[in-house]
Amino acid sequence: MQLPHQALLACSVRDCGADLERVQRLWRCSAGHCFDVARSGYVNLLQPQDRRSLDAGDSRRTVEARRALLDAGFGAALRQCVQTLASTVALEHGAAVVDFGCGDGHFLDAVCTALGCAGVGLDLSPHAIESAAKRHAHGIWVVANADRRLPLRTGVFGLALSIDGRRPGAEAARVLSERGTWLIAIPADDDLCELRETVLGESRPRAGIERVEAELRGLFQLHEKRTARATLRLDRNDLERLALATYRCARRAEREKLESLTHLDVTTSHDVLLFRRMPGA
Ligand SMILES: [Zn+2]
Repeated sequence: MQLPHQALLACSVRDCGADLERVQRLWRCSAGHCFDVARSGYVNLLQPQDRRSLDAGDSRRTVEARRALLDAGFGAALRQCVQTLASTVALEHGAAVVDFGCGDGHFLDAVCTALGCAGVGLDLSPHAIESAAKRHAHGIWVVANADRRLPLRTGVFGLALSIDGRRPGAEAARVLSERGTWLIAIPADDDLCELRETVLGESRPRAGIERVEAELRGLFQLHEKRTARATLRLDRNDLERLALATYRCARRAEREKLESLTHLDVTTSHDVLLFRRMPGA
């Protein structure tokens, strides 16, 4: 991941939106609004009206569970697929990548490293953003609500990522350049099928490709689609982490079933989609 060639952030104070400039331990706009850089290097650009609760986003335990799963190789197939597909995108010189729900920066760092470019990671969870800032010093890590106006400059990003994350269509079209692309990964039909069958007894269909296409109609057009799939044997500890990481097994009966397992082969499966911004969108 590289340092950016140009200003990428915009002031989040209501009706301001001026470019933010990094001045030592502050991000500052031309109107004089200032945001402190935290000790670990991230910045919190949430405004009071964008905050749903004081402790919004993933908890520290959830962030740690996700990290442990990634370290155990869960997510390697998705990372490889995202990296390969992102490498087919021809970024204009100096263009940057933005991730709308970056967690601890795992996928954004993989993509920026592959493309040799700068990246901005947004997440609602201060725990996730702090972890990202500690792991990847060159990235710009921002606590922000991806469901509101994004604290990003218009038209300066060549590629956006949503890996199991938010899909703010109109805002993505605004911050991407004219020829920008958006890489979206969503759970495929067989994602976590063993866990769902064994523990949860659910077989409801997931948000499919057609739904994403319908959501983005008029703004983005599907250009390419791949599948990332792998099956891993998870032990009891990793199964508990998976439940935590995916907000599952909250009911008592589900927890008891989960705790009765010594291990389970679990399939992780994603549709990885590359959308192109439509001209004039
Ligand atoms: Zn401002």
